[in-house]
Amino acid sequence: MATILANIWACIDCTHAHANGEYNPDRPDSEPTPLNLIERGETVTLGLLSEEHADTCTPEDRAEGCDCDHDTFSTTACGACGSTLHGERYAMTIWQEESPNRQANSIPSQSIAVYI
Ligand SMILES: [Zn+2]
Ligand SMILES: [Zn+2]
Repeated sequence: MATILANIWACIDCTHAHANGEYNPDRPDSEPTPLNLIERGETVTLGLLSEEHADTCTPEDRAEGCDCDHDTFSTTACGACGSTLHGERYAMTIWQEESPNRQANSIPSQSIAVYI
């Protein structure tokens, strides 16, 4: 069983760090390390659960890439690193597996990374 711990909005650097382990090399040194607020043992997926999408958002919209999980400009701090740089934010869902036998098939979409 997976337990959903939180939905967060992550900055572009955290999104890239999550997706491929790399991020903008020009990120200012004064900014926190991407994903530093993700705790050990938590599983992170990009995107939202289907029920978190807007009521008007159809499965077809989601398949094509809707805007529910993408905020083109936000001034709130990144939920994954705490950076207050303004800009794009992408939704992430944070999980924790209850079982030692991890089952990815209960997890919604896109890339999955476990921070251990
Ligand atoms: Zn949507
Ligand atoms: Zn961030």
